[in-house]
Amino acid sequence: MRYIEPHGHMVSRVTDDYIDMVTAGCACVCEPAFWAGYDRSSVNGFHDYFCQLTDYEPKRAAKFGLPHFCWLCINPKESEDVQLAEEVVALIPKFLDRPNVLGIGEIGLNKNSRNEMKVLEMHVDLAARHNQMILVHTPHLEDKLKGTRLIVDVIKKDKRIQPERVIIDHVEEHTIKLVLDAGFWAGMTLYPESKCSPARAIDMLENYGGERLWLNSACDWGVSVPLNVPYTALEMKRRGWSAEDVDHVVYQNPLKFLSQCRKFKLPKG
Ligand SMILES: [Zn+2]
Repeated sequence: MRYIEPHGHMVSRVTDDYIDMVTAGCACVCEPAFWAGYDRSSVNGFHDYFCQLTDYEPKRAAKFGLPHFCWLCINPKESEDVQLAEEVVALIPKFLDRPNVLGIGEIGLNKNSRNEMKVLEMHVDLAARHNQMILVHTPHLEDKLKGTRLIVDVIKKDKRIQPERVIIDHVEEHTIKLVLDAGFWAGMTLYPESKCSPARAIDMLENYGGERLWLNSACDWGVSVPLNVPYTALEMKRRGWSAEDVDHVVYQNPLKFLSQCRKFKLPKG
């Protein structure tokens, strides 16, 4: 089996995870910028984190033969402080030319607050000005539908952004149609407990046809299953999917979306 892990917060994981992923057939991992497990106290904390995502972590992944890409932003969880967010957004362009940077992400909303909205708009403008792709985090649980609507409206309003270069992550049954109908890609995150399970994700794939969709594992500071994409691929096969159809979802789809960034290249063979 081959697959792409499009959303793994590897700075929070151990080397055993890299070994397991490569053993399971992972062809590359993409790491959106997120919360560090604590709130950073200044823009310097983000500078160091962006160095980690663009320098140290790709080297650590390379020790296991795994190509590593990343996305940069100040995450919604820390974007209540608009002044700090302005400083971080001003810092990001310095890092955009680094070889493993794919775009701006994971931006979005956490609690749907006014300040989070302001920072979301700043990031969308940043992506438009620098012609970057966008990866979006949607809020969890009861805030998800409202948050997804707000996000879709903000991005659609900016005519400089091409929807096919935007992926909206953590969709569920009640938000997937909204995202796909607006022309965006949608990501499904496979959680070990609660929220979207492998079985629910496969139901959605069967209902929506498996185009402009990808799967990613919950792989961060919380309870995680970094191999949930290949585990879900096994479940698809058990449900009668052909090897080709599984490959389409877990490998070809993310490859197609990510290849819109000219820096995204996988080693041959
Ligand atoms: Zn994430």
